[in-house]
Amino acid sequence: MTALPRTLSPDLRSWVDSANDPRTDFPIQNLPLGVFVHHGSDDARVGVAIGDQIADVRALIDAGLLDALDPRVLDACKATRLNALMGLERSSLRSLRLAVSDALSAEGPIARDAATQARIVIPAAEARLLTPAAVENYTDFYASIEHATNLGSMFRPDNPLLPNYKWVPIGYHGRASSIVVSGTEVKRPLGQTRDGEQPPSFGPTARLDYELEVGAFVARGNRQGERVRIEDAEDYVFGFCLVNDWSARDIQAWEYQPLGPFLGKSFATTVSPWVVMSDALVPYRVPARRRAADDPAPLPYLFSERDQAEGGLAMVLEVSILSQRMRESRMDPYRVSIGAFNDMYWTTAQLIAHHTSNGCNLRPGDLLASGTVSGPTKDSRGSLIERTWRGSEPLTLSSGESRAFLADGDEVIIRGWCERQGHRRIGFGECRGRVAPADAI
Ligand code: MN
Repeated sequence: MTALPRTLSPDLRSWVDSANDPRTDFPIQNLPLGVFVHHGSDDARVGVAIGDQIADVRALIDAGLLDALDPRVLDACKATRLNALMGLERSSLRSLRLAVSDALSAEGPIARDAATQARIVIPAAEARLLTPAAVENYTDFYASIEHATNLGSMFRPDNPLLPNYKWVPIGYHGRASSIVVSGTEVKRPLGQTRDGEQPPSFGPTARLDYELEVGAFVARGNRQGERVRIEDAEDYVFGFCLVNDWSARDIQAWEYQPLGPFLGKSFATTVSPWVVMSDALVPYRVPARRRAADDPAPLPYLFSERDQAEGGLAMVLEVSILSQRMRESRMDPYRVSIGAFNDMYWTTAQLIAHHTSNGCNLRPGDLLASGTVSGPTKDSRGSLIERTWRGSEPLTLSSGESRAFLADGDEVIIRGWCERQGHRRIGFGECRGRVAPADAI
């Protein structure tokens, strides 16, 4: 690894006190970007999470703290979504990150200027967060071999892992219009299902599930017809968020052949509001998952030495459930699983190289989700269908309630973070969503 930029120095501290708390997701080393609306206003602005506060990027500009930046960067900072920022070249994003870090630093120009500080930060509790980008295109991959094997064993016991899995990163085109930000209620969908040999019927899903995933937002895109080589693929990632790919398993099981997921998925996908930029994740890059000795090597267009050496990301992910009854009795959420993003079979660079290999164009702000992150152990399975083995091994929540699939009133809470000896721990915040009852038929 090359020398760390000064924005990542573990000794760096902020004049925002809560950012120096070792438990915060948002120390000054993180500086994730998002879009917020201050209570009482309807003005959407780009912000940076810092401790329990949000730094208003427009206010940083007005205070003259970003004067060194290119006017194009400043224009992109004044937009109401992150797409324009995502489309900037990497050097511009780096200079923005450096300028914001200096402005918020305990050694920076306004470290002792309380009046300016008060104009720049607002408590996160006083803001509503929006979907960070206007997502035009959403692709959901299937990059965990454990998830693919688990689901395959349930749907096709004789043939759990299809022969293409170790060769082709599998994905499908998801629905961008139903992407919602963390905190948005998700209504139990209606759909067509079939129980055993009975004729199909239409009604509320009885098998509502979540999928714990990591999302990558595309930075600059590629032209149609021009593929992205794996050596360059990391430059096409702006940053990462948490994703819940809500799934109605009974609808999915009946509709998925022969063309794949459709209405069992397209009713909602929840994203976390803060996007952790790739430049904040440099200390946590690790080698790609090592393939088993008898697995095929990736084809050359999916292989690079650099990607094998540092294409993985040491990120911990957990899912908790908070039921209506637990909420009413003020209980803590119950942790259902904890897993590692680095268990994935395919790296993000491989997903991008594959996605564009036919000349398909990606655009700034497109969302590429990893697929359910499941590991080799039971408690690292990132969906309920795996965790309860299609409902045959129900979970008991801390309230004593039993769950095979999600009940109305359940809130699913996904968290993720990166930590490594000698570096500040950084987090991704939360991706939450509560299940609302279905409409009457
Ligand atoms: Mn998925």
